[in-house]
Amino acid sequence: MLSLKKIVFYLVALLLLVGCGGPGIDRADSLVVIDAGHGGEDCGALCGGRQEKDLVLQITKKLQKEFKRKGYRVYLTRSNDRFLKLGERTRIADKKDAKVFISIHANAIANRERFDIVEGVETYFLQKTRDAKSQRIAARENQAVLQGTDELSKNVIIDAVLNGPKIIQSHKLAIDVQGNIMKHLRNDYKDAKNGGVRPAPFYVLVGASRPSILVEVGYITNSKERERLFTSKYQKHIAKGIVEGVGRYIDNRKREVGF
Ligand SMILES: [Zn+2]
Repeated sequence: MLSLKKIVFYLVALLLLVGCGGPGIDRADSLVVIDAGHGGEDCGALCGGRQEKDLVLQITKKLQKEFKRKGYRVYLTRSNDRFLKLGERTRIADKKDAKVFISIHANAIANRERFDIVEGVETYFLQKTRDAKSQRIAARENQAVLQGTDELSKNVIIDAVLNGPKIIQSHKLAIDVQGNIMKHLRNDYKDAKNGGVRPAPFYVLVGASRPSILVEVGYITNSKERERLFTSKYQKHIAKGIVEGVGRYIDNRKREVGF
């Protein structure tokens, strides 16, 4: 006879096993494409003698290592200092049939008086928005990728994918990633600011026919954050948080629909 205590114990154990994903989930079939923003002639944000393009490449390499350690397959859109044209980045993700696409960036603001006030980590997914802050950040990140593309093409490109079916999945992925980044960062940086998950019209995410997010890992214009951003410790927390967030997302999808 099973006592009520035992039944409860087995139920909890079963729930825990299902909830944690268990060792049964095979990750070798999950390819993750990581996109280090900017590169080559496009330096991204510049401040205090530091360049966004260098920072995001460092973080991307840590991400590659961490994803591989956890059993995922990884592909980088760039593994050195080179420029990629609009569309090339997400086209790689499509060609490789990636499960998710993650673009890594660092944030910046224009107003010098607010350099040391504005800080935090933010994760974006593609969507048109009226939010002025998201629009400003998207405009800055879009600048270089859109060089040589006329206004009409830009609008056609973005309209074609807005409201697409991937938006809900991208939103879910963004929530898992942002939450896990903050969890890891706060182990060492109690004051790390959670900038949250936001929708924004980033062109690098346009054309991605899979769940895609853009992570702004911190503000290069904020002196406290800039110092942290270039340390191995901060970068490792970011990498671990992203990998855990992606893992959570992929495991959940697999359970739902054999994703
Ligand atoms: Zn950027």
